[in-house]
Amino acid sequence: MLNIILCGAPGCGKGTQSALLVDKYTLKHLSTGDLLRSEIESKSEVGILADSYISKGNLVPDEMIIEILLKKIDTMAIDAAGFILDGFPRTVGQAEALNKAFEERKNKISFLIDIQVEKKELITRLLKRGETSGRSDDNLDTIKKRLQIYDTKTAPVNDYYKALGKYHAIDGLGEIEEIFGRISIIIDAEMNK
Ligand code: AMP
Repeated sequence: MLNIILCGAPGCGKGTQSALLVDKYTLKHLSTGDLLRSEIESKSEVGILADSYISKGNLVPDEMIIEILLKKIDTMAIDAAGFILDGFPRTVGQAEALNKAFEERKNKISFLIDIQVEKKELITRLLKRGETSGRSDDNLDTIKKRLQIYDTKTAPVNDYYKALGKYHAIDGLGEIEEIFGRISIIIDAEMNK
């Protein structure tokens, strides 16, 4: 299986690139943000709790998101050629839990791709998205909080995969197709190893 993590700060284009990758490599897209937003929409107990973190720009607790993700993976795994994980893991604790869970399922993470975009550009993109997304977390104060949390809690996840020799970085500036090309080069090279 080809299990790829797309990592990068909020607004780096993970969701957009995931959609393109799913088509090209017939993978299943798993976005923890989407999973949480659908819980919020259905007003489930988990959704109400998740919203209290998300709307403030905080991460939801590790145990909560790990449980949601693994439940979803176990319902999808049978016919999946592999996964694109978008927005997970976001802490080193989540990365460790993911490693363990995949090992238990006789599976493994293939590699992580870090989509790098400078902060000023991220803020511009997220504010623009906020004009139409209806997301409670796409406003300036929450965006700043999310970027700060990315630096302190999520960026160390990159080091975790570097230490495992499973880290790639690409420049996330440019046209969507151009960025997709950069990601595809990495995936194709890894698949031919
Ligand atoms: P996203 O759509 O990936 O930007 O996620 C939106 C929000 O959902 C994040 O700002 C977090 O509050 C929450 N979230 C998504 N994925 C995770 C995760 N892996 N760990 C903790 N919180 C998450």
